[in-house]
Amino acid sequence: MKIAIIGMGLVGRILAWRLHESDQTIKISLFDQQDRDYYGTGLIAAAMVAPHSEVPNTEPIVQRLGQHSFQRWKDWLPKLEAQTQQEISYQQNGTIVVAHPQDQSDWQRFQIKAQAHIDSKEWQTLNQTQLKHLEPELAQTFSQGLYFPNEGVVDNQALYPALNHYFKQAEIISLYENTRIDNLNLISANFDKVFDCRGNGASHDLNNFRSVRGEVARVIAPEVKFSRAIRLLHPRFPLYIAPRKNDEYIIGATQIESDIDTPVTIRSGLELLSALYSLHQGFGEAQILEFLVGLRPTFSDNLPKIEWGEKIIRINGLYRHGYLFAPILIDDVLNKIMGNETGIHFPQFIVNNES
Ligand SMILES: Cc1cc2nc3c(=O)[nH]c(=O)nc-3n(C[C@H](O)[C@H](O)[C@H](O)COP(=O)(O)OP(=O)(O)OC[C@H]3O[C@@H](n4cnc5c(N)ncnc54)[C@H](O)[C@@H]3O)c2cc1C
Repeated sequence: MKIAIIGMGLVGRILAWRLHESDQTIKISLFDQQDRDYYGTGLIAAAMVAPHSEVPNTEPIVQRLGQHSFQRWKDWLPKLEAQTQQEISYQQNGTIVVAHPQDQSDWQRFQIKAQAHIDSKEWQTLNQTQLKHLEPELAQTFSQGLYFPNEGVVDNQALYPALNHYFKQAEIISLYENTRIDNLNLISANFDKVFDCRGNGASHDLNNFRSVRGEVARVIAPEVKFSRAIRLLHPRFPLYIAPRKNDEYIIGATQIESDIDTPVTIRSGLELLSALYSLHQGFGEAQILEFLVGLRPTFSDNLPKIEWGEKIIRINGLYRHGYLFAPILIDDVLNKIMGNETGIHFPQFIVNNES
C-alpha cells in the first residue's frame, strides 16, 4: 500500500510512525510546506494531557478520551525512546489548580463543575498542608488547591526530534520538506490513500472550521521549583504553567478567535506575565526566552473530526487538545485502515464520505 500524509505536524508525524509500526510494508510519503525542524503549532503547545482540569473549556467526552491518551503516551513513549535512543519524558505528576482569594467566584464555579462532571477518583481538594507537601512553593501564596493526579505533560521538544530520527532510520518513509500541497485530488492519483493532516492549512477544504490563536511565553526561572503543571483560575487571564527540563516553563495561553499569526501583542504579553508574577514572585527574576504564537485548528463544536473519503482522509479540529486527542484518533484511524471496525473507540468522530 502507498500512503501520502500531507502535513508533518503533530497528527501527521504520529500517524506516520504508528502506520509504519503496524505494517512495515506500507510505503509512506510525508509532505510538509516547512522543514522537519519548523517550530509549528504542535511544538509551541504546552503539550499538557489534561482532560479533567480542562473541564470548564471542554465537552464531557474529552474526559473519556483522556483515559485512553494517558495510557497511550505511557505505552508509546518508552517504545519510541528504545527505537531512537532518545529520551522523551512524560511527566505524569498531575495538575494543581489554584485561585487568588479575590477570584473566589471562579474557584467556586470550577468546583461545582468538577463535582458535576469529573469522576471523584480523578481529583481531590488540597488544604494548605497537602498543597505544601506536593508543591511547597505554591503553598507560600495559596492556602488551597485542587489536584488532578493522573494528568501529565509530554515533552514535545524531545518528541519531535525523536520522530525525525525514526523517519530517518525507516527507509520506507520518504520525507518531502518545503513542499506545499494545496490540491489533494491531484496527488491522490499516485497513492492508495492520502491523509490530510494540514491543521489550519486545510481551512479552505473544510466546513465550519476556524482557527483559535494562542500565545505562550517560554521562560527560564531558576528561583522557581515546580514539578507539575499548575493552573491559575482568573476571570480574564486564566493561566497555566507547564514545567520543562532545566528550570524552563511554558506559560500559556491566550485564546483569541483569530487566524492571524502575527507576533505576540504587548497586551497578551503583559497579561500572561503579570498573572505569572502573581502566582510566584520568583518568576520576577525569570528570563523570557521567547514569546510564541500558534493557531489551533478548530471545528465549530470544538471537537475533532475524521472525514473518511474513498481516497482522501482528513484528520483535523484537534483545537487545544492535540496531545489529548491525537493518540486515540490515530488508533481509530489504524483500526479502520486495518479493517478492525469493532476496535474503534470513538466512531462519533468519523464522518463517512466514501461514495
Ligand atoms: C498556544 C498553544 C498551546 C497549546 N497547548 C496544548 C496543550 O497543552 N495540550 C494539547 O493537547 N494541545 C495543545 N495545543 C493544541 C495542539 O498544538 C494542536 O491541537 C495540534 O498541534 C494540532 O495538530 P495538527 O497536526 O492538526 O496541526 P499542526 O500541528 O499545526 O500541523 C499541521 C502541519 O501541516 C503543515 N501544512 C499546512 N498546510 C500545508 C500545505 N498546504 N502543504 C503541506 N503542509 C502543510 C504545517 O506546516 C504543519 O507542519 C496548543 C496549541 C497552541 C497554539
